[in-house]
Amino acid sequence: MSTKQQGSKKDDGRDFGFVDKELSDAVGRMTYTDILPLEERGYEQTKAFLLKVVDLLLEYLKETFDRGDGVGAEDDEAHGKNPRRGKILEFLHPEQMQAALDLELRDEPRNLQQLVDDCAVTLKHSVKTGHPWFFNQLSCGLDVVSMAGEWLTATANTNMFTYEIAPVFILMENVVMRSMRDIIGSSFAHGDSILAPGGSISNLYAFLAARHRMFPGYKEKGLHSIQGQLVMFTSDQCHYSVRSCAAVCGLGTDHCVEVPSDDRGRMIPSELERLVLERKKRGDIPFFVNATAGTTVLGAFDPIPQIADICTKHKMWLHVDAAWGGGILFSRKYRHPRLTGIERADSVTWNPHKLMGTLLQCSTIHFKEDGLLISCNQMSAEYLFMQDKLYDVQYDTGDKVIQCGRHNDIFKLWLMWRSKGTSGFERQMDRLMELSEYMVRRMKENPDKFHLLLPEPEMVNVSFWYVPRRLRSMAHGPEREKMLGKITPVLKGRMMQAGTLMVGYQPLDDTPNFFRNIISNPGVKESDVDHLIAEMDRLGHDL
Ligand SMILES: *Cc1c(COP(=O)(O)O)cnc(C)c1O
Repeated sequence: MSTKQQGSKKDDGRDFGFVDKELSDAVGRMTYTDILPLEERGYEQTKAFLLKVVDLLLEYLKETFDRGDGVGAEDDEAHGKNPRRGKILEFLHPEQMQAALDLELRDEPRNLQQLVDDCAVTLKHSVKTGHPWFFNQLSCGLDVVSMAGEWLTATANTNMFTYEIAPVFILMENVVMRSMRDIIGSSFAHGDSILAPGGSISNLYAFLAARHRMFPGYKEKGLHSIQGQLVMFTSDQCHYSVRSCAAVCGLGTDHCVEVPSDDRGRMIPSELERLVLERKKRGDIPFFVNATAGTTVLGAFDPIPQIADICTKHKMWLHVDAAWGGGILFSRKYRHPRLTGIERADSVTWNPHKLMGTLLQCSTIHFKEDGLLISCNQMSAEYLFMQDKLYDVQYDTGDKVIQCGRHNDIFKLWLMWRSKGTSGFERQMDRLMELSEYMVRRMKENPDKFHLLLPEPEMVNVSFWYVPRRLRSMAHGPEREKMLGKITPVLKGRMMQAGTLMVGYQPLDDTPNFFRNIISNPGVKESDVDHLIAEMDRLGHDL
C-alpha cells in the first residue's frame, strides 16, 4: 500500500502562484541523504532547495497582501487571471480537503522536488490570516520583520532553558521583559517576567504564584496544607482559561466564582465584594481575583482601581489578564481610563501575539515581586541547573517555569520592537483604534443594515448584526435578534465559500449569534472596512 502511486486527482501544488517551482532535474531527484546534514559536501543542493522554499514563502506573502488589484497584477496579464487573486482562502470541506491532499507517510523517501511540491500544496490550501480582509481572530496580520525574526529563530533552533545554550536570546528576553514591565508601571520595575506558551498558560502562572505566595507550604505538602476552600473570582466575561486554572489546580470550577458584568461587559465591583463576603461567611478563603483588560468577545475593560481596592481590603491577589488589551498600554491616548490602575496588580498577562501583531506564539506574564517564579516552580534538576557553572546562573531561566524546554519566542518580538521603536507601537495601537472607530461610524451611517450591540466599543472588537433586506423594517427586539442570530452563521458560511471576507461570530449568554469584528492587522485601511461593509451586504442582503 505504501508504494501505491497517487491518482491524478491529488493536488501537486504546481499551480500555486506564478513562481517557478522546478528544481533542476539533478537536484529535484535528490533526497535528504544528498543534502546537509547527512551529505557534508551537499551545501549547493541544500541551498538550491531552501531558496526554492523561500520563493514559495515569498509568493504566499505576496498573495497575503493581494486585494485582487495592485500587487502582482503584471503576473496576471502574463499568465491569465489567477482565480486565487484577492482571496483569503479557497474553502474545502474536510472530506474534500482529504481527497485533494496526499498526506500519507510512506516507507521510502520522497525526493526534493516532491518536498517543494508538498510545501506549495500546503501554502495553497492555507488560510491567509495576514490578509487585510481576515477580521476573524484576535491575532490577525503578518508583520514581516517579526516573520524574519521567526525564520532566524527556526534556524538558530535553540532551547531557552539555560544561558549556556541561548546566551543572546536570554539577554534579549531580559531587556524586552524589563521594557514591558516599565510600560505597565514603575511598581513592576523590579519584578520578574517570563514568556509562556500562550495567555492561558500565563494566567496559570499567575494563579500558581498567587497560591505559592499565600500558602508556601502547598508546593511540598499539597492540598492538605491549606485549611479551607480556596476561592477565585473573575467576571462572567473572562477568558475560559481562568476557569481552567480552577479545574487544573484542584480548586474545582465551582470555586471559580463568576462576578456579573454590566451592560458593556465590565465586572461590577460591588458584586465582586458581595460575592467575596458571601464566600467568607461560608468559611472559604477568597485569595485571587482576575480582572480582564480587554475581554475576548466584547473588548471590555474591568474597572481596575475599584477591584484593586477590594483586593487590598480582603487581602486577595490581583491578576490583570491583559492578554488582549495589553497592547493599548503603549498608547497615551487610549491607555486611560481603560488600563488605569494596572500598576496596582500583582501580576499581568500580556500577549504580544494579539494586538501588537508579533507572530504566533508570543505571550508574557509579569510579576511585581521578584523571586516568586523561581521559588514557586523551581525543581532544581541536577542535570540542567547546576549551581557551579562557569557563569552567573541567575541567567538560567529554565527553573522558573513548569515546562522543561522553552521555545524561543523572544527574538521575533525584540526584532520587531527594534524596527518600530516604542513610538511605532504607539502609532500602531492608535491606528487600530482609529480604524475601529471608522468602522463603527460607517455602521452607524447604515443603521438599516448594521445593528451594533455596543454603540461605543472600548477596543477594536466591534460587535454587530448584519440585517438582511426582509428584516430591515422590523423593530429591533428579542424577536428580531433571534432571527438575526440564525442568519449570522449562514452569512459566515457564504463568506467562507466566497473567500473574500472572514469575520468571527458567536452567541454570548442570552444574546443570539452576532458578528465580532477585529481589527488587529496594521495593514488594514479604511478601504478594507468599506470592502467589509459592501461585501456583507452583497453576500447577505437576500437572506
Ligand atoms: C486570547 C486570550 C487568552 C488566551 O491566550 P492564548 O494565547 O490563546 O492562550 C486569555 N485571556 C484573554 C482575555 C484572551 O483574549
